[in-house]
Amino acid sequence: MPLKGNSSSALARMQGKFTINIITRCHEWQRSHGSQGRYPTISIEGSKRPQYVHRVAWESVYGPVPTSPCPDGSHRWELHHSCGNHNCVNADHIRLVTHREHMRIHSELRAAARLAEAA
Ligand SMILES: [Zn+2]
Ligand SMILES: [Zn+2]
Repeated sequence: MPLKGNSSSALARMQGKFTINIITRCHEWQRSHGSQGRYPTISIEGSKRPQYVHRVAWESVYGPVPTSPCPDGSHRWELHHSCGNHNCVNADHIRLVTHREHMRIHSELRAAARLAEAA
């Protein structure tokens, strides 16, 4: 798939910073020591704030996350890790979902996790 926009420099910065898990195919980001928070971030030229690495990876393949209104009335589009590994930056493992859909997916995942614990 052709690269869109000026994402090639962002991709170049990602090179060598993740390892590929041969079982799950996750591209696991190598976190720097002491990094906090849920998702790893990366500094990108021309942008003031660090960007989420999984978002940079997704956008480098599929283009910018849309800012258009969501069909279900959600206030924004979000990216969901279908592999459940928040360190993963494999665009194939990341799905574009609406905020509402995302909340639903995670409440179902939590319910499934509770069932698994109870079993
Ligand atoms: Zn993954
Ligand atoms: Zn998610």
